Amino acid sequence: MQTIFVTGGAGFIGSAVVRHLISRTEHRVVNIDKLTYAGNLETVADVSDSDRYSFEQVDIVDADAVARLFNTYRPNAIMHLAAESHVDRSIDGPADFIQTNIVGTYVLLEAARTFRDSLSQTDQDSFRFLHVSTDEVYGSLGDTGYFEETTPYAPSSPYSASKASSDHLVRAWFETFGLPVLVTNCSNNYGPFQYPEKLIPVVINKALRGEEIPVYGSGDHVRDWLFVEDHVHALLTVLDKGRPGETYNIGGHNERSNIDVVRTLCSLMDELMEEPKVGKHADLIRFVDDRPGHDFRYAIDAGKVGRDLGWKPSESFESGIKRTVLWYLDHRDWLNPTESDSDEVARRGVLRTPKIGTLKT
Ligand code: NAD
Repeated sequence: MQTIFVTGGAGFIGSAVVRHLISRTEHRVVNIDKLTYAGNLETVADVSDSDRYSFEQVDIVDADAVARLFNTYRPNAIMHLAAESHVDRSIDGPADFIQTNIVGTYVLLEAARTFRDSLSQTDQDSFRFLHVSTDEVYGSLGDTGYFEETTPYAPSSPYSASKASSDHLVRAWFETFGLPVLVTNCSNNYGPFQYPEKLIPVVINKALRGEEIPVYGSGDHVRDWLFVEDHVHALLTVLDKGRPGETYNIGGHNERSNIDVVRTLCSLMDELMEEPKVGKHADLIRFVDDRPGHDFRYAIDAGKVGRDLGWKPSESFESGIKRTVLWYLDHRDWLNPTESDSDEVARRGVLRTPKIGTLKT
């Protein structure tokens, strides 16, 4: 039995990690989360009674609080998922992204290094710091090609730039201080408990309400999609078997254009929604101005984690997306923000000042 820190354990992916660790393993979990707008303890309600579960409401930027957690719980491993994660929010206000994603990661690395140095040689050898990152650090692809672990970084948004910075810091702590780190870069996740502002819950919610379904640009941006529980299995495989200092790309082998995803959701809603419908949900689709700096295509080569560690996704896009729609239909409260939150879910990531390059003289 190990003690595992999960940062961001009240968020979408972190909570899936916590639920899995408590319900399917013997490990002790310390969920470390600031509970920003994106954090919600409902996501872990099913497991929070376990005596192997602890929650600490801590901001990872707070070095004293983080050091206290290491000394109190003496973890065997850190799974670092706490982040500001929404690209549109990073366009509206990058400051929190710099603080949490870069400074927060630095604080955790330093606390982990100090703690690791205090351990016996055997415990030092088995200590692990798993940093969970995104394929967005690689920038945009054209119609062909895949991101590999060796693809140079070329982030486009403040979000991806902040994640790229944190990846570099994590690698530097391995090269410079020998901290046994692992880095994973994953494609778009979907599944239960995703914050309602992200594409898939937005589409389901709009379809339920019979409202227009906004799609950026012409909807031809391509993403690779991975069911969140498959991501959790990948992370635990990397934590267990990954080689310190290595990066592993994780993806679902499910490339879809945004408009394909939206159309699939619309036809699932036609099929699965019990209420009477007026026409087809696809008739609600409306194309809206594109997000600035919107990368055209992400596609991930997840061959290494398969070859070296034996992981592969178990959910196809068709099966995973159906499970997801059924879950949201059964958990409609999750989709319905309170009145004061509804502005929050309004359109974000629209530049309100002209870009220098487009100023007319
Ligand atoms: P999320 O926004 O749903 O959850 C983030 C969690 O971090 C929230 O619970 C929030 O309260 C917490 N948090 C934010 N700032 C904090 C701080 N300063 N201190 C402590 N806790 C803080 O994000 P997610 O979608 O679950 O993503 C988790 C991680 O996975 C992120 O690092 C993200 O970059 C990465 N990732 C996400 C995806 C995806 O598709 N969602 C894909 C690849 C990688």
